[in-house]
Amino acid sequence: MRPIYRGRNVPEAVRKPPVHTVAGMGTTATHCAYCALQCAMTLTADAGGRVTVGPRDFPTNRGGLCQKGWTAADLLGSPERLTTPLLRDDRSRPFREASWDEALDVVADAISATQAAHGRDAVAVLGGGGLTNEKAYQLGKFARVALRTKNIDYNGRYCMSSAAAASNRAFGIDRGLPFPLPDLAETGAVLIAGGNVAETMPPFMQHLTAVLDRGGALIVADPRRTATADRATLHLPVLPGTDLALALGLLHLAVADGHADRAYIHDRTTGFDDAWRTAAQWWPERVERVTGVSVAAQRATVAQLAAGARGRGAVILTARGAEQQSKGTDTVSALINLALALGLPGRPHSGFGCITGQGNGQGGREHGQKADQLPGYRKIDDPAARAHVAGVWGVDPGELPGAGPSAYELLESLGTDGGPRALLVHGTNLAVSSPRGHRVAERLAALDTLVVCDVVMSETAALADVVLPVTQFAEEDGTMTNLEGRVIRRRRAVAPPPGVRTELEVLTELAARLDCVAAFTADPETVFDELRRASAGGVADYAGISWDRVDAEGGVFWPCPSADHPGSPRLFADGFPTADGRARFVAVEHRPPAEDVDAEHPVYLTTGRVLQQYQSGAQTRRVPALAAAAPEPQVEIHPDLAGRNGLADGDQVRVVSRRGDAVGRVRLTTTIRPDTVFMPFHWGGDQAVNRVTNPALDPISRMPEFKVCAVRLERVGTS
Ligand code: SF4
Repeated sequence: MRPIYRGRNVPEAVRKPPVHTVAGMGTTATHCAYCALQCAMTLTADAGGRVTVGPRDFPTNRGGLCQKGWTAADLLGSPERLTTPLLRDDRSRPFREASWDEALDVVADAISATQAAHGRDAVAVLGGGGLTNEKAYQLGKFARVALRTKNIDYNGRYCMSSAAAASNRAFGIDRGLPFPLPDLAETGAVLIAGGNVAETMPPFMQHLTAVLDRGGALIVADPRRTATADRATLHLPVLPGTDLALALGLLHLAVADGHADRAYIHDRTTGFDDAWRTAAQWWPERVERVTGVSVAAQRATVAQLAAGARGRGAVILTARGAEQQSKGTDTVSALINLALALGLPGRPHSGFGCITGQGNGQGGREHGQKADQLPGYRKIDDPAARAHVAGVWGVDPGELPGAGPSAYELLESLGTDGGPRALLVHGTNLAVSSPRGHRVAERLAALDTLVVCDVVMSETAALADVVLPVTQFAEEDGTMTNLEGRVIRRRRAVAPPPGVRTELEVLTELAARLDCVAAFTADPETVFDELRRASAGGVADYAGISWDRVDAEGGVFWPCPSADHPGSPRLFADGFPTADGRARFVAVEHRPPAEDVDAEHPVYLTTGRVLQQYQSGAQTRRVPALAAAAPEPQVEIHPDLAGRNGLADGDQVRVVSRRGDAVGRVRLTTTIRPDTVFMPFHWGGDQAVNRVTNPALDPISRMPEFKVCAVRLERVGTS
């Protein structure tokens, strides 16, 4: 195994259970600032306030950290850190520093004036999948009872929404992994559809390496032979946007080659016949023509998964490659159908899961930031859910707004007739992470008021009227829910710089200024206790999880409905949380991408992440070691395609779609299909590939089609 996957050797002292120390000095046990693996780490602050990171043993990362984790503390004392509120009366003028009182008064006055003139829904909120559970919960409550607006959604819409929609309709629950991650190491075969964990969350690879070390199979479907695919026993180089056809073909072979688990299908599922009627049309040769994956590779995939199912087990995982499509929900459903046909969900060391991306992508989608949701994964249009949550909040259920639009639709409506005139942004750099970036910038510019809470001057903050400086991971207490559904503790290791506040404080202060009748507090543990009550009885039931318990047990899996409940590390062993206790096959049909190649735009573009950067890059681009390692976007191009376009390694290339263009540096590689280019999305300005991507939305999840659109390549120069 490469050292980067394992991190440095872990001293015995930091393998011990978490210790918490006084903020500002000593060593504090916490978790990483970034992705959903939430690797365990220690933060040690010296007398001078310098903070160093150490690895800590935990079931998910087993002492490993990636380069982002090792450098996570470097942003704490960064000169680019925002430490005072910033205001401007006119966007043509520079920001000026302001006191917190003045800034909060300006925001509250703008909210009041906007709502008085244009109605409650004229103020909108966008949250983020990196917010703690407490902040995500408080933000949803603030929108519904302080602003009383329906217009709230979050950037997880761009991340996990297709996986969530498909999991809900098949299993009746949306928990990314329905088993602890170490279970993966015990299985016999793993298929990953559209995920590159070797770069996005390197310590995850330890679990896959364990599968390989025992002679198991690792199959990766990806247009690129990524670092993960490079370790696989089988790589399926699927054409971008055709994962659904591939999944239908795999189900076809599973049945046709006699691998379907008929007893499981009969006893534990519904809907197989309808799903099979569609899959029956996807014979292997047709699938090969559409996807580019050979018949032999399709057959080997099914055989290896079936052998695993008969032996130690088999697991099918999806990630953004399969999900960030205008048919992402159906693609995930097709892969769930395959898992059900092989009899995997609920079996030991087997199952189906979706790899969550953002740090609190799981918890962030459970507690009310979503447009159609109340805490506990309750539906906002369910009268019983409204009554329960309104009771906890001390308001009339009739006063709660209904469902609002999804994130991209909300952005499209900003500043339009009848659309929101003011926007509050928390924990997301949507100017870089949203598709069709020019259009999003236009809509943000059309607002009367844009308020951004952030730790640095992100591209979105730079467009704002008010910027409020808030705490980072090492400066705050709270909980996160990792990719396994395990609730873990984020602990404060150092005091924030003077002038920086938590978003819980910001929301509490604003609620008071808006004369909100519901109670708000800036104390995170009190917020969590209220979250527990609000989630009680919901799908994502946290009622039995307390901070003390999380501290004592090192994490608790939801659902956990009472203090004496052990938590739920493994789901589905005894049934599915559906009306009849059965999982549902969903009949789905392949369709082409929303935009296909043509003479003017003859190349497929797919996007994703690189090891040294995280999401929009607002934080990681400001960490010197990461910026040095990955200073600019590299456009991966096959030499054959480069030759046809007059491009050489190191050239600057403009990637042009019908919506816009972005510039990156050519990296020639034979690890990508000759009809496809790849560009990472961590940079802003003219390097922002999301100026190019297609906002075509999945009809169910409202996920934009980040993973495939048509482009042409133009050489810009050699430097
Ligand atoms: Fe672990 Fe993700 Fe942090 Fe890397 S970025 S150390 S994989 S939590």
